[in-house]
Amino acid sequence: MRILLISFLTFISFAGNSQQIIDTIQSEEGTMIVFANRTWVYLEDLNFDGIMNHHVASQVDTDSNLNYIQSWDHDVCYTSNLANNVNAMKDTIWLCLEDSESDSLDGLFHMPTDGIITSHFGWRRGRNHNGTDLDLNTGDTVRAAWGGKVRYAKFNTSGFGNLVIIRHHNGLETFYAHLSKHIVVPDQMVNPGDPIGLGGNTGHSYGSHLHFEVRFYDIPMNPEKVIDFKEGIVRDENLMVHRGLFRPGGYAPSSSGKAVASGDKKYYRVRSGDTLGAIASRNRTTVSRICQLNGIRPTTVLQIGKNLRIR
Ligand SMILES: [Zn+2]
Repeated sequence: MRILLISFLTFISFAGNSQQIIDTIQSEEGTMIVFANRTWVYLEDLNFDGIMNHHVASQVDTDSNLNYIQSWDHDVCYTSNLANNVNAMKDTIWLCLEDSESDSLDGLFHMPTDGIITSHFGWRRGRNHNGTDLDLNTGDTVRAAWGGKVRYAKFNTSGFGNLVIIRHHNGLETFYAHLSKHIVVPDQMVNPGDPIGLGGNTGHSYGSHLHFEVRFYDIPMNPEKVIDFKEGIVRDENLMVHRGLFRPGGYAPSSSGKAVASGDKKYYRVRSGDTLGAIASRNRTTVSRICQLNGIRPTTVLQIGKNLRIR
């Protein structure tokens, strides 16, 4: 087995990258191969079919109205070639955007960047703007909104510039465009809040900003219907995916009985001098619980003014 693995790695070094392999790292995210020029790839899981959420995929697949296409492709933005027709959607599909009971990071949301909205989803300058623009400075860290697997990470010539696309466990994909640099590679698993790139001004962009898209089977929805960018939280733990959601004026009705329980959730705005330990004890919780709720680590540097969820 060991000999097999070594010969396989050597093959990769010749096939994909003429650089010498200087390290292989085993992690929860998979096997990472590091080349001498400090680029890296993940060993592709050849059994992976692109499905991150089997519950959602089976609903889509069994609905004969939809005929939706989705594949796992590192080279194209839209794996259906935008063939998935929103008007075919007759039923509502339930997605779970945040699972506050979950013990794993996978079930949480994290803001991609903290900047204010500079442009909304919808009709703009004679064409559809398929995402929300968020202000940032070139070099600012851009983070994964939810956990999932990186599908696309490279320069895109059709306007996105440096683009990262992540397919999430919740059934959605998110796009992060105009990056100055991407710091993830395809097939890499990410947790919510993991750094995936640095903000920038590449592609069709006038001034540094993040163009952020949320898509369901390639169909873009208004990210502001899903995320409250001012508070840095999802609007509801549940997302009801139906035709109306994808219209600029559409909205996502919350499921009965499980509305955004603002009374259940509690947030704390970080002030100068705060530490996680002090915030935790003042709010009668633990550092690990705060880390879990916010997708951060105990060593994460707290940003003043940022809202931390503490319950
Ligand atoms: Zn934009």
